[in-house]
Amino acid sequence: MQQHLQDYARLIVEVGANVQSGQTVLVSASTDSAYFARLVAEKAYDAGAREVVTRFYDENLRRMHFLRADSAVFDEVARWVPEFYKEYAERGAALISISASDPELLLGVDPDRIQRNNISTSTALKGFYDKQMANEFPWIIAAIPSEAWAKKVFPDLSASEAVERLWEAILAAVHVGDGDPVAIWREKVATMAARAEMLNEYRFTKLHYQNSLGTDLTLTLPEEHQWVACGEKAATGQPFVANIPTEEIFVLPNKWGTEGVVYASMPLSLNGNLVEDIRLTFAGGKIVKAEASRGLEHLEKELDIDEGARYLGEIALVPHQSPISEMGILFYNTLFDENASCHLAFGKAYPKFRDSDERTEQELLDRGMNDSLVHVDFMIGTPDLSITGTTEDGRKIPVFRDGNFAL
Ligand code: ZN
Ligand code: ZN
Repeated sequence: MQQHLQDYARLIVEVGANVQSGQTVLVSASTDSAYFARLVAEKAYDAGAREVVTRFYDENLRRMHFLRADSAVFDEVARWVPEFYKEYAERGAALISISASDPELLLGVDPDRIQRNNISTSTALKGFYDKQMANEFPWIIAAIPSEAWAKKVFPDLSASEAVERLWEAILAAVHVGDGDPVAIWREKVATMAARAEMLNEYRFTKLHYQNSLGTDLTLTLPEEHQWVACGEKAATGQPFVANIPTEEIFVLPNKWGTEGVVYASMPLSLNGNLVEDIRLTFAGGKIVKAEASRGLEHLEKELDIDEGARYLGEIALVPHQSPISEMGILFYNTLFDENASCHLAFGKAYPKFRDSDERTEQELLDRGMNDSLVHVDFMIGTPDLSITGTTEDGRKIPVFRDGNFAL
C-alpha cells in the first residue's frame, strides 16, 4: 500500500501538475489528508520544486463555521485571500488540490448562508478562477478517501473497511497498481487526444441527446469550438492533466442554443448537500424549470447566483464502458462520478475554441461562451444514451449509441 501511495503522489506531481524544476507548488488539502499532502510535497521537491506552499483546511471546522459564525461573515472575504491566490497565479505556480470531502458536509446548514458564501468567495476570486479556467498556470484536482466520504459510499462497512475499499477503488480508477502509472497515463493522454481530434473533424453544429429516462435535449455548438481531452497546456508551456482520473472529452456549448429536457442519472453533491433526481427544462439556452426529489432548495440557490448560472458551460462525453463506470460504484464525488458518465455543467464555460488566443473575450462571449460565478457538473449518461450530431451540411451522424462512442 505504501508503494501505491508513493506512485499515486508521483502521478499527481509528474503527470497531473507536471511540476518543473524551479517551479513553486501550491498544495491545498484538508487536515485529514495531511499525510498524503506530505507525500505530494516530497515528490514535488524530487521533481525540482523551488518551494512547496501548503494551505490546510479542516472539514469539521468548516461545518462549525457554517453553523455557528455570525451571519454577516458569509458576505465577506478577507483581503488577503484573493491576494494570496493572485500572487501564486502570477508566479505561474502549479496548483495541486487534494480533495477528500464529505458529500454531505453541510447537511442542515441554512442554504442562504451557503449561497452568500459562494457569491462572496467566487466574486473575490473571480480573477483567479478565470486564469485557472484559461490554463494560465498548471493545476490538478485529485482525491483521497476520508472516513466520512467512505462511509457514504460503503454504508454497510465499518469506517476502516470503508476507507480501505474506497482507496482500492480510487487507485484502480487512476491506474495505480498495474505497472508504471506515469507511463500508462502518458499513453492514455495520447489516445484521448486522438478521439477529440476525430470529433473536431466533424464540425458538428448540434448534438441531440435521448434516453429512456426521458432526456430529449438539443445542444448547439459554437463556431470554432474545439473538443479537448485531458492533455492540456498551460500558458507556461508545460503540458498538464487537470483531473486524475479523467475519461472525458469536452467542449463548450453555445449558451443560447439548448432546448428540451434533461434528466440527471446520478445524485449530485452540491456544496456539501445531496440533490437527487434532477430534471432541467431549457428554452433559448436558459434553465426555465428545475426539479429534484431532494435538495431542490440547494439547486435553486445555485441557479439563482447570477444570470449565467442558468445557462450551460460544458458538454462532456464519457463512454458508459469506462473503467470507472464499470466498477458500478456511486462515489458521490464529481471527480469520480463525472468520469463514469456523460455530463453537462451549468455556469461558466472553459474557453475551448480553435482560435481562443487570437480573439478578445468579448468576441468569445458573442459566440455564446457562458460566464458565471459557478460551474457545476451534473451527470446525465445512461447505458441507453444516444447522441446524434448534425454537421454543417445537415448530415446526421451517430456520436453515441447505447451509452458508448459510435464514431
Ligand atoms: Zn467535466
Ligand atoms: Zn466541469
